[in-house]
Amino acid sequence: MVEASIVNKKELKQSRQRDPNAEKDIKFVSGPAYISSVPPWSLAHELELKAGDKILEINGKKFRDFFDFQYHFEQSDLAVLLVQREIKQDLAHPREGAKDGLQTSFEEFEIEIEKDFGEALGCEFVTPLFNGVQECANDCPFCFIENQPFDETRKSLQLRDDDFRLSYLHGSYVTLTNLSFSDRKRIETLRPGPLYISVHATEPEVRNLMLGRKKSSPIMDELKWLASLDIPVHAQIVLCPGMNDGKHLLNTINDLYTLKDSPVLSLAIVPVGLTKYHRRGLRRFELDEALDTISMVEAWENVDAKKRGKFVFLSDEFFLMTHAEVPEKKYYGDYPVLEDGVGMTRLFLDDVETQLAKIKPKSFGEKFKISWINGTISQHALRKVAKMFEAKFHNLELEPVCIDSEFWGTTNVTGLLTGKDIFAKIKDKQDLGDLVLIPSVMLKEGFDIFLDDMHIDELSVKLKTKCVKAWGAKEMIELLTSEQSFSQSRHNKQDPKAMNPVL
Ligand code: SF4
Repeated sequence: MVEASIVNKKELKQSRQRDPNAEKDIKFVSGPAYISSVPPWSLAHELELKAGDKILEINGKKFRDFFDFQYHFEQSDLAVLLVQREIKQDLAHPREGAKDGLQTSFEEFEIEIEKDFGEALGCEFVTPLFNGVQECANDCPFCFIENQPFDETRKSLQLRDDDFRLSYLHGSYVTLTNLSFSDRKRIETLRPGPLYISVHATEPEVRNLMLGRKKSSPIMDELKWLASLDIPVHAQIVLCPGMNDGKHLLNTINDLYTLKDSPVLSLAIVPVGLTKYHRRGLRRFELDEALDTISMVEAWENVDAKKRGKFVFLSDEFFLMTHAEVPEKKYYGDYPVLEDGVGMTRLFLDDVETQLAKIKPKSFGEKFKISWINGTISQHALRKVAKMFEAKFHNLELEPVCIDSEFWGTTNVTGLLTGKDIFAKIKDKQDLGDLVLIPSVMLKEGFDIFLDDMHIDELSVKLKTKCVKAWGAKEMIELLTSEQSFSQSRHNKQDPKAMNPVL
């Protein structure tokens, strides 16, 4: 999911009507390139462009996104930019109620630039998609976006993006079911790769069921088309019990694995996650079904995987929910689909070991307790991690406090816990300790708010205990080290011998 970009309604309406085989193009929807920052070393800086300026045209051409912009700007040695700038003027006699006594107007001007062929403007934009995000045209019964209380969650969580440009730029998964004739032509020209594709199943009727569609272009044809363009793919399956698992899963693995020219680099399998807002009759995996899936994939690998190296990756949830040991590093190779929750736990466990090995044992002046909040799914692995930290930091008690989410109902993953969940579950806990540690993955980056918009500081006030955020072994060690030196100096001050060694 992406933050902040606005969905282009016109584009969305058209995407719903798209026929992949139609030769007629959709109407070209363009938008201005909104500058967010101008680095001092850039050509944009030399030209005195500013954050907030909008570039409307290059050489009389409008653009849809960063790709168009880059093409028009860089593929020429003479560029004429049409720029719109907001001007704020002091009003000599501000009208009653006028904000700050300022009047806003816009000026448009042209900048003519003689430059080297291929030279970039070098500024950054608010979003790379100037014409808005392309929404999906599917109706998947497992869609997370439907599984939420719309009036209580952020707008960005409600965006059904399915935009091949975001797949290339940010690794978002796309289905390719909303591609217009013009999108296809662009993919053929730009050849963006790798792309991240939600396959779910290769049998057309099973895939259509998964996508909530009557028909769609067969995914195997789409993948062959991408292979013909030399565009590599990372594929994903959201696995739903009774829908695309069992023999359908095996067919999908085999189909993708044996595809000519091997365009599929990896296949991630993620179990369906449902919340209490789900109304479409799906269910989560039972323990025995999850174990069967692990065994089935392992059996397939024992027969085939040695031919081409690691191909199928089960997400961490399969191992965590069955309390199986998470696989060793070699299972994940270069961690190709880490963002999809594949290998996060192993990476974290190994990183804790490596980072702790780099530091000398430390000691808190007196007992120091931290309540470490997490979802219940990872409790088994976290106890191990806590022991590793406690062995390095004398007097530390790091207690994993693993809670389910009331807000979402059945959800047990850490990243989805809300401020209200945490408060409700731990407010009556007897000994929260000196600190409550919040994994940063629960917070919106740069804002420190939970999914329900509660700020981390508000949680500190409500719990009457300081809440701090950290993510990853390094940040946790930094946090503990700074708390440890503080506690040590406080302890030393209180210790009369430390204050006067002669005593
Ligand atoms: S493709 Fe399916 S899961 Fe993704 S946003 Fe669209 S409906 Fe939801």
